[in-house]
Amino acid sequence: PTAAELVDRLTLVVPDFPEPGVLFRDLTPTLADAEALRAITDELVGAFAGGFDLVAGIEARGFLLAAAAAYAAGTGVVAVRKAGKLPPRTLIEHYELEYGSAAIEIRAEQLVPGTRVLVLDDVLATGGTVEATCALLERAGAVVAGVGVVLELAALGGRQRLGGRPVHALRGV
Ligand code: 5GP
Repeated sequence: PTAAELVDRLTLVVPDFPEPGVLFRDLTPTLADAEALRAITDELVGAFAGGFDLVAGIEARGFLLAAAAAYAAGTGVVAVRKAGKLPPRTLIEHYELEYGSAAIEIRAEQLVPGTRVLVLDDVLATGGTVEATCALLERAGAVVAGVGVVLELAALGGRQRLGGRPVHALRGV
């Protein structure tokens, strides 16, 4: 089976989580499956093979993908954290959510300027989180080599917010 077929077979669709009216895609069982984890990782790495020097994972589910992808590609990994978790000094990027706002951080001076970074997360929804991550990495001097996600909720238009940065989604729903 392809990575997309395994994602379809294993991913749970949970109504009304985390709030009423939201249809949440739960990748927990997908990532817990050895064949699916390998297929997902290989496809995300393969889509950008040779084009990146470092993998960034977005807290929290992006961490799982990023570590696996970095290991497979032979690169290091960077954790893009929710604000308040990292010791100083940090770079911070604030962004708007559907309800309210959020902020993400990385360590300052962690990235060598010009480093080509592959950004990974589990789901691309409105794109706000990935857009803020790309902006943060670029402020730090990095080049976003690409964005890889397992699922793209295409109706929410996240890809359009990413300004032409290359996006690879294993599956669109
Ligand atoms: P955004 O709207 O900024 O694209 O998504 C916000 C964050 O919530 C992202 O980190 C994304 O992975 C997560 N997210 C949004 N919708 C879902 C969903 O249905 N399932 C999962 N697992 N994560 C989601």
